[in-house]
Amino acid sequence: MALYAAAAAVLAGVESRQGSIKGLVYSSGFQNVKQLYALVCETQRYSAVLDAVIASAGLLRAEKKLRPHLAKVLVYELLLGKGFQGRGGRWKPVLGRHQARLKAELARLKVHRGVSRNEDLLEVESRPGSASQVPRFVRVNTLKTCCDDVVDYFKRQGFSYQGRASSLDDLRALKGKHFLSDPLLPELLAFPAQTDLHEHPLYQAGHFILQDKASCLPAMLLAPPPGSHVIDACAAPGNKTSHLAALLKNQGKIFAFDLDAKRLASMATLLARAGVSCCELAEEDFLAVSPSDLRYRQVHYILLDPSCSGSGMLTRQLEEPGAGTPSKERLRALAGFQQRALCHALTFPSLQRLVYSTCSLCQEENEDVVRDALQQSPGAFRLVPVLPSWPHRGLSTFPGAEHCLRAAPETTLTGGFFIAVIERVEVPSPVSQAEALAPELTPSPAPKRKKRRRKAAAGASTSLGT
Ligand code: SAM
Repeated sequence: MALYAAAAAVLAGVESRQGSIKGLVYSSGFQNVKQLYALVCETQRYSAVLDAVIASAGLLRAEKKLRPHLAKVLVYELLLGKGFQGRGGRWKPVLGRHQARLKAELARLKVHRGVSRNEDLLEVESRPGSASQVPRFVRVNTLKTCCDDVVDYFKRQGFSYQGRASSLDDLRALKGKHFLSDPLLPELLAFPAQTDLHEHPLYQAGHFILQDKASCLPAMLLAPPPGSHVIDACAAPGNKTSHLAALLKNQGKIFAFDLDAKRLASMATLLARAGVSCCELAEEDFLAVSPSDLRYRQVHYILLDPSCSGSGMLTRQLEEPGAGTPSKERLRALAGFQQRALCHALTFPSLQRLVYSTCSLCQEENEDVVRDALQQSPGAFRLVPVLPSWPHRGLSTFPGAEHCLRAAPETTLTGGFFIAVIERVEVPSPVSQAEALAPELTPSPAPKRKKRRRKAAAGASTSLGT
């Protein structure tokens, strides 16, 4: 594959959360991985600038066959990189036609922002509270090590440990080779934002996981005790699954589902590296997983972290208001799935506690989904008020929505996130408990239900195969 097409494919993969830049570059099959990695990182670094220039030059409107990620790579190379240098194929003359306009839009942007150099356009991203100020969080994997040992290792490497942070200001002030423990999560360490630990031997050995603080909250708030049975409904690439396994101390069982075979394959590697031994991975549509299956009769906990627009992801926290906002149709489709998945999760008969989370900032994928799901089983479940001191709460769109948590770089120094903790209200009656434990003993409707579910599962695997 040519360099620009490969870079565009990596950018698209990162956006749809198929993996990290590094992982996707390595699995791209492109020979010169260094060259590809550098191009993708630089294009990503200037992503907001490129989006703004491409939009104001009307490039995608004029060139309907040019896909947005490829456009971004090509415009990066044309305006900010080394020029096409003999590459660019059929797109070179196309970009040539728009070159003058693109250059003019870049110049206009610089005038507008009062800067003269291209690098200065990035300056806005380093303002306090912007995405690039979010610390590099490191979750110590307690299945393999403990915080003290990891702290000691970093100290031996010349890092200076500053103890437990007492406020967000302490985290905000992190600089150089200093690091802190997070004030809220005991196993979380925080390093200055630009610290790159992907090549660190302890990371490679699975002793710590590079995971944003907000993304650590769902497992922490689900809090399954060791020995529990847990469903991770949309599990790949598995960071939250490995966190759940650490909380379970590998005792009990995690049933982890995902539709995407590739993501499941990298998840299996991640879990093996993290020493997770209590997890059963299944390439399955969660919507087709039968709640009455005896295997799930002891599932008291469900983590539901479904596909979402990713509008809160740090890489999408663009400086241009409105940029990166998903279209209405995409939001509708995503919210439809999220709602079906949440309603389905709430039908597991032994369920006691569920955490619903997204890395989206959109109300449609968050408060609206939770409200509608709760309305569909009135009185059976409630939102649990959690972390009262957490500063950023759910939008007050319905009574109780303030029990939900939101997260954002400006307010919590994390990526954008949404979390709702839901608990069963009623204690199941002795009859329904018996049904949950032995559904095959319940009268006539049970076999019918089973048949329908088998059909649904078959339908799902057909669509998976296509
Ligand atoms: N929880 C994961 C983690 O922390 O690493 C991230 C999950 S990601 C936001 C959403 C996942 O849901 C994707 O891997 C996607 O393939 C999967 N997914 C989408 N639809 C699904 C379905 N119907 N059943 C199971 N998994 C699904």
